[in-house]
This record gives sequence, C-alpha cells and structure tokens, in this order.
Amino acid sequence: MNITQVAVIGSGTMGNGIAHVFAANGYAVQLVDISAPALEKALATIEKNLQRQVKKDLISETDVKSILARIQTSTDLQSAAGAQLVVEAASENSDIKKELFKKLDALCAPETVLASNTSSISITEIAAVTNRPDKVIGMHFFNPVPVMKLVEVIRGLATSNVIFNDIMELSRKLGKEPVAVNDFPGFVSNRVLMPMINEAIYCVMEGVAEPDAIDTVMKLGMAHPMGPLVLADFIGLDVCLHIMHVLHSQLGDDKYRPCPLLRKMVAAGHLGRKSGRGFYIYS
Ligand code: NAD
Repeated sequence: MNITQVAVIGSGTMGNGIAHVFAANGYAVQLVDISAPALEKALATIEKNLQRQVKKDLISETDVKSILARIQTSTDLQSAAGAQLVVEAASENSDIKKELFKKLDALCAPETVLASNTSSISITEIAAVTNRPDKVIGMHFFNPVPVMKLVEVIRGLATSNVIFNDIMELSRKLGKEPVAVNDFPGFVSNRVLMPMINEAIYCVMEGVAEPDAIDTVMKLGMAHPMGPLVLADFIGLDVCLHIMHVLHSQLGDDKYRPCPLLRKMVAAGHLGRKSGRGFYIYS
C-alpha cells in the first residue's frame, strides 16, 4: 500500500492530533470537519503544539512551516476523495459514523483504506455499511496524539490480513507502537481501564476512602502515573459513563454495571475538568 495522501475526518481533540502526526511524518493531510470554527481551532492547536516542540529544540521553525503547509482544511467531505487512507475521528455517535462511512465508501477509490478512531463503536458494524469491509479497520490513537505512543489497531471481523499488516507498518512509520486487538467492546484499553475507574468510584460511594487517598494508593502502590479518579476527571465522567454502558450492554455481564455515583455525578453536570468539577474542583 503506497500512502502519500491521508484524510482525517473530524478536527476535534483527536482529529487535530492525528493530522499533526501524519503531517509531521511527511504525509499530505486533508483535514475535514462540518464546522469551520472547529477547523480554525484545530490549525491553531497544531501550530501551538508544534511551537512547543520548537521551544524544546525538537524541530525548527522551517519544519513548522513545512508541516503546516502539508495540512489542507475543508468542510466538504468530497475533499477526502483523493486520499489512500481516511482516518475518521468525528464525534462518538454510531449514526454519524455509519453515515460518514457510507459516503466515504461511495466517494473514495476502491483501494482506499477506511479507518476509524472510535473508542467504543464496533469496527465490524461500521465496516458492514460499506462495500469494502476488508479495507475497514480501527486505528485507536490516544490523547494527546502527538505525545502518546500507543495505537490499538483493531481488526474487524472482515478486515484482511494485508490491510491489517499495512496499518501496523504505517503506525510504526508514524513513530507509534501499534498493538493488535480484535474487535470486542472497549477493545483492550477501555475494557481494562474503565472497570478500574468504575471500581474506584464504588470505593468513593461506599466510603472506603476519600478520592485523594484512592488515587494515592494507585500511584504509590501500583506505580500508576495518575490515580484513577484524576484520570476519570481528565477523560470526562460522561465519557466514562458512556463506555461503561457500552461494556455493560454489549458484554451483558453485571460486572460492568456503571456505579450509581458515576451516574449521579453525570446527571448533576459534574463531568470532571471540562465542567470545572468532578472528583476534584478545577478553577
Ligand atoms: P471532539 O468532540 O473533540 O471532535 C469531534 C469533531 O467531529 C468535532 O469537531 C465535530 O464538529 C466533528 N464532526 C461531527 N460530525 C462530523 C461529520 N459528519 N463530518 C465531519 N466532522 C464531524 O471528539 P474527540 O474527542 O476528538 O473524539 C473523536 C473520536 O475519537 C471519537 O470517536 C472518540 O471516541 C475517539 N477517541 C477520543 C479520545 C479522547 O481522549 N478524546 C481518545 C481516543 C479515541
């Protein structure tokens, strides 16, 4: 697979990071979003993050110019037509993603690979709305994308071995460490992380310990860089609840039951960092 042109659909938290990483590794990037202000914000974020690398002497001002010059933005999905690889990072909504994959399937060349950065939607299900399920795959990047090394490469039921191997290789070219994962709810990352966070919330609810004490146990006792409740606030408690619902409903096991305190905090609008209040208060 000879990939030179990549389209990234969705320019939010993940999309701008994914565009940044591809452009920094020499790929021409078409960044597409339905929102023009989102695209402007994405470009500003990419430039700010690149300038941070300049300050650390990791890249030069000339590099910044050439990386930015490789990124084109558009609100028209049609501009993805020339890409050999599309990475979809639009909002986490099954209907939005299926609609996008149907359209991308119709407008891209038959050999174009269609990847999704979804955290919780089945790659097999997304692939089934296209006429190329063998060329649909998950590329699950982590936030912040330019910093985090991991990519979970998710094989849908129909993903071909050739495409899987190509995407593993491409991820390495991006300087990432890809891991092979099969398509099951939550993949590996959220299947393991979210129940741990959920259990930490049960500990708060049952009065086992204060949030700060729980985080300290996991940091100092288990060498986690960040405690589970600080991490939950960072991810967003609404996102954590959504992923627990996905695990619970799709795996059908009550061990994935979302903690009632998590439901209550989300209902109250205490979503973590983004709302100024979660398990901790943020000013
Ligand atoms: P976000 O809300 O920051 O950005 C989503 C963007 O998609 C928005 O700019 C929105 O305007 C755009 N969008 C919505 N519908 C669109 C459409 N039809 N066409 C083009 N653009 C459209 O979301 P995010 O946090 O960047 O998440 C994006 C994807 O990445 C989701 O699937 C999410 O599950 C996944 N993900 C997120 C994280 C994370 O930490 N935020 C980590 C891994 C994976």
